[in-house]
Amino acid sequence: MRLFDTHAHLHFPDYAEDLDAVLGRARAAGVRGMVTIGTDRDTNRAVTALASRVPDVWATVGIHPHDAAEATEADFEEMERLAGEEPKVVGFGEMGLDFFRNLSPPDVQRQVFRRQIDIARRARKPLVVHCRDAHAETLAILAEERAGETGGVMHCFSGDVEIARRCLDLGLYISLAGPVTYKNARALPEVARFVPEDRLVVETDCPYLPPTPHRGKRNEPAFVALTAALIAELRSADAERLCDALTANAATLFRITLT
Ligand SMILES: [Zn+2]
Ligand SMILES: [Zn+2]
Repeated sequence: MRLFDTHAHLHFPDYAEDLDAVLGRARAAGVRGMVTIGTDRDTNRAVTALASRVPDVWATVGIHPHDAAEATEADFEEMERLAGEEPKVVGFGEMGLDFFRNLSPPDVQRQVFRRQIDIARRARKPLVVHCRDAHAETLAILAEERAGETGGVMHCFSGDVEIARRCLDLGLYISLAGPVTYKNARALPEVARFVPEDRLVVETDCPYLPPTPHRGKRNEPAFVALTAALIAELRSADAERLCDALTANAATLFRITLT
């Protein structure tokens, strides 16, 4: 079984005590690669350092909408520099809009999102988009800023089939996380059946959102196997073949060569 976790936060303090064991369990479960995702200035530095140290971990640098209000000009310049100089930095994000928690004012979120799409487009690296309770506006900004030119992924997809269709039209991949395994998965099982096989990827978003039966615990990349297995079941697909395809998609998305 070949798996790829397209969205993890392995640099978080949650793993400070046992990261090597977490990575070991991921490899034992078949995870061939993981992308650890930056969210602000400090974590952008942490993800870059981690990815340069661990061969099967890659990184993206970005400003999360929650952190948008704190972002400075120097942070954007540093992101651009890291992506230019560090070969393991394979994309930008997470970036986007989160109107569920509104930890940064919506106007600042919009501005910081647009700015990062522009940086990614100039650097020709894919976007990792976070979107919560803001689908219409996120899609409008992605279209206006010509995100299709860089490509990217709608991470931890939480919309319905119609929103998935619009993301696909913009040229984005759809990434499903633990919530597709939940009893209250809403439209996600239908989305898991709908997305064409060559546009789908999986993620954990660990330490958050562990798939069933690990809800309430800390999530980790090994658990991406459970999400992938459920998606295979929903699609009536052979699990091993589907996991190979999802892994190849992740490599294409982030322009990574897996050995
Ligand atoms: Zn997110
Ligand atoms: Zn995340």
